[in-house]
Amino acid sequence: MGGSDCIFCKIGRGDVPSLRVLETPDLLAFLDIGPLAPGHTLLIPKRHHESVLDVPPDVLARLTSALPPLAGSVLRASGATGLNILQNTGRSAGQVVPHLHFHLIPRREGDSLGFLWNASKYAPGEGEAVQARIIRELQSPAR
Ligand code: AMP
Ligand code: ZN
Repeated sequence: MGGSDCIFCKIGRGDVPSLRVLETPDLLAFLDIGPLAPGHTLLIPKRHHESVLDVPPDVLARLTSALPPLAGSVLRASGATGLNILQNTGRSAGQVVPHLHFHLIPRREGDSLGFLWNASKYAPGEGEAVQARIIRELQSPAR
């Protein structure tokens, strides 16, 4: 899905209204319509890329370069004491809109937001096997 069907493409083109806070020729930041906290902001490339799996590195570099000043501004403007910067890749990871976006979510102590962070432990040898698989994928020409 992209272009005419995609809600964030429409927002990027200005065909759907949004509360914009930052705009460059190829990037846009706007308020999330369903904020987890006041100031919850989304940063997108205007052109359609589904996730970090298909975005060109130069576009991702411009997005991440926009993050520090945007993060500081969202933090100060919302009066929060922290931020979660979140990028959901894939439906199973909670990605509902299949157009790359970073969430900037203002956080405060005791705000009752957050992940179920059910940390586990590797069995003996399991971490090394996972490490080897990831390194093999990184070295694979099919990447
Ligand atoms: P994700 O689950 O990571 O795909 O997040 C999608 C986010 O987009 C959700 O937090 C929605 O509230 C937000 N969203 C969907 N439609 C709009 C819209 N028209 N304007 C602003 N935010 C939107
Ligand atoms: Zn799109």
